[in-house]
Amino acid sequence: MGGHPRLLDFLFEFSGDGIIVCDEGLRPLRVNQAVEVLTGHAAADLLAGATPAATAARDQLAAAIKAGGVPYWSGMLTCADRRDRRFDVLPTTIEAAPCAPLTMVAFLRPSRGELPGRDQAFGYDPLTGLPNHVIFLDRVERALLQANRAGGSVALLTLGLDRFLLVNEALGFAAGDRLLVEVAQRLTECVREIDTVVRLEGDRFALVMALADQDDSVIVAEKVLTALKIPFSLDGQEVALTSSLGIGMFPQDARDGASLIKCSDTALHHAKLSGRNQYQFFSEELNRRARARLDLEARMRRALANDEFVVYFQPKVRAADAAIVGAEALIRWNDPAEGLIRPADFIAVAEETGMIEEIGAWVLRHSCRLNKSWQERRLPSIGISVNVSARQFRNRHFVDTVRQALSDSCLDPRWLELEITESMLMGDVDAAVIRMNALRQLGVGLSIDDFGTGYSSLSYLSRFPITTLKIDRAFVVDVDTNPKAAEIARAIIGLSKGLNLDVVAEGCELPAHVKFLTDQGCHTIQGFYFSRPLPAAEFEQLLEIGVLAAPVQTP
Ligand code: C2E
Ligand code: MG
Ligand code: MG
Repeated sequence: MGGHPRLLDFLFEFSGDGIIVCDEGLRPLRVNQAVEVLTGHAAADLLAGATPAATAARDQLAAAIKAGGVPYWSGMLTCADRRDRRFDVLPTTIEAAPCAPLTMVAFLRPSRGELPGRDQAFGYDPLTGLPNHVIFLDRVERALLQANRAGGSVALLTLGLDRFLLVNEALGFAAGDRLLVEVAQRLTECVREIDTVVRLEGDRFALVMALADQDDSVIVAEKVLTALKIPFSLDGQEVALTSSLGIGMFPQDARDGASLIKCSDTALHHAKLSGRNQYQFFSEELNRRARARLDLEARMRRALANDEFVVYFQPKVRAADAAIVGAEALIRWNDPAEGLIRPADFIAVAEETGMIEEIGAWVLRHSCRLNKSWQERRLPSIGISVNVSARQFRNRHFVDTVRQALSDSCLDPRWLELEITESMLMGDVDAAVIRMNALRQLGVGLSIDDFGTGYSSLSYLSRFPITTLKIDRAFVVDVDTNPKAAEIARAIIGLSKGLNLDVVAEGCELPAHVKFLTDQGCHTIQGFYFSRPLPAAEFEQLLEIGVLAAPVQTP
């Protein structure tokens, strides 16, 4: 045999048993493929202790070899998925040549009863440590079961690297392998811990994730494309790659795991045919929506740069004498092609893409500046209310943004109010209270918008340092026709009195609304009955008069 080193190599590599060759200190010098398959650890990881799990396995192996046992050692080893599995380890010493130092060799087998089943060692890709094609269907089906139980969608993203073979040819398989490991890492960072990343084969990966909203798959898809575009550094060379993604959605595209996989594959094929470096949904409808979204996002970026956003102001009026006592700043988008676009058509996307932070900060600065300029022109001083989105509110720089807008405009903080919604305050209530206190310390008012539509528990309300409740339009429009809505509006007014808060009714359109609300003790009214939201110049003209023409008619 000594004359056939290639044969020996072959036997070593393709033995079904794991084989570990160690130095005298029991550190592994070489392991064969079976060790990789059985434990999920890449050989290089195991030798170098490159991951915490690989280090653990290496130490456990050394201890096992040292301990020996009759007829073998049997114990737990940590696999690449960080699960411990029972293995048998049979150590022997080999004298490679007379008088040469002894070589330690250990054979590794799964213990009886731990034979590598479908979801054990064979289910993992030794190179990346990710689950592999063997358990792919199982993971997809599990996600579908979960979604069936809990509601929601499952997105299956199948990913192929564009022109990966070129990397392999140019830099060799070892570099190609390292690139795949890095891809696996980046993909794992793009998703939540509960999602599954699978290496299917070669340069193909899949991501399985449960989503509350199918549109969220676009966010992940964009994140993945962006993450993989960052050049890889291989042997000192920068390698830039793009990738293609196919997206299948449950339950929209398919009702079982196998069909969903087919849909996602078809979509990937489509993405490759359409020029790569993109994602495609399986269904045309979703493709169309995704494209419209992308288009909207790009247009919004341009709009911000080209000053296409404008702020309208809607008066808040004291019902008794129709005096303007405040105004709400409401954003509009003056698109050169489509005309005036309402916030309902773009705020949600701005929120998802993060653009809301920039847009919101702009509305804030703009509103503070205008309000100050009205005061400088000796128009009646009024409070300006600015809507704040959840994402803005959660940003840890938000308080600074507000402080900055105030100091840049020299506006006295008591003329600024921020409108937040109940849902933004749920979740981490303590953090919300801290942030609200910081805002109150600046001297600005805090109003809860759309009050009554969220799920806030009344016990929290006493903890929130708010100044105003805004009765949601849904109750206001119904106060004259729906006794329940009337009762809720009455209760909110009572609540604000009890908690010593201001109360504003929004969406008043009819004299009957105004009458009911003022009868109940809500005297600040906002709504089309008095005025629609107006461009700044028109609002200024009203403010010069200070009182609105609309009389409070009693029906
Ligand atoms: P919101 O803060 O509850 O604003 C009140 C909405 O009701 C405004 O819609 C206003 O035009 C409308 N409205 C006022 N009175 C009446 C009425 O009598 N009848 C009817 N039918 N509607 C009335 P708009 O301007 O389309 O804004 C919609 C939502 O978009 C706002 O609801 C707010 O949540 C959001 N939004 C507007 N501007 C901004 C902004 O600058 N930043 C953020 N984050 N959100 C904004
Ligand atoms: Mg509002
Ligand atoms: Mg509202």
